[in-house]
Amino acid sequence: MKLETLRDLLVEELQDLYDAEHQIIEALPKMKRAAHSDKLKKSFQEHLDVTRQQVSRLEQVFELMDQKPKRKACKAMKGLIKEGEDMIEEEADRDVKDAGLIAAAQRVEHYEIAAYGTAMAYAKQIGLDQAIKLMSQTLEEEKATDEKLSQLAESTINVKAAQ
Ligand code: FE
Ligand code: FE
Ligand code: FE
Repeated sequence: MKLETLRDLLVEELQDLYDAEHQIIEALPKMKRAAHSDKLKKSFQEHLDVTRQQVSRLEQVFELMDQKPKRKACKAMKGLIKEGEDMIEEEADRDVKDAGLIAAAQRVEHYEIAAYGTAMAYAKQIGLDQAIKLMSQTLEEEKATDEKLSQLAESTINVKAAQ
């Protein structure tokens, strides 16, 4: 389909995000299993729960735009998750592996922060106020998760991994 307007591009961006969030739901349980730190396991579990709500918010945004929710393969997320899986497989000291898992997870959050930021800018241009509200909730969750991972790394995990 030819993209005629910013609205068409927004729909495509949402389909990319919808696929990305689904990939994350599949990946997080593996990240949780591979993590050693209880705090890190808990943080992956919490983000899994939050991500399920993010999927449902995207479905609401599709509905607001009279679109059926559809996944368009997010190749970047596939690559980011593959890097996480490589870290899971890597032979490493447990604290060092935890640090590596955090690094992989933060790359995922940063991709999402960029993508939701763009989608919200398009929604703003088009005047989709309700969609902006929904996506800003998600964006705040992604940012909070990123912050939390930095905090966990810098306060504990990187410290242990350095020894
Ligand atoms: Fe997400
Ligand atoms: Fe993508
Ligand atoms: Fe996220």
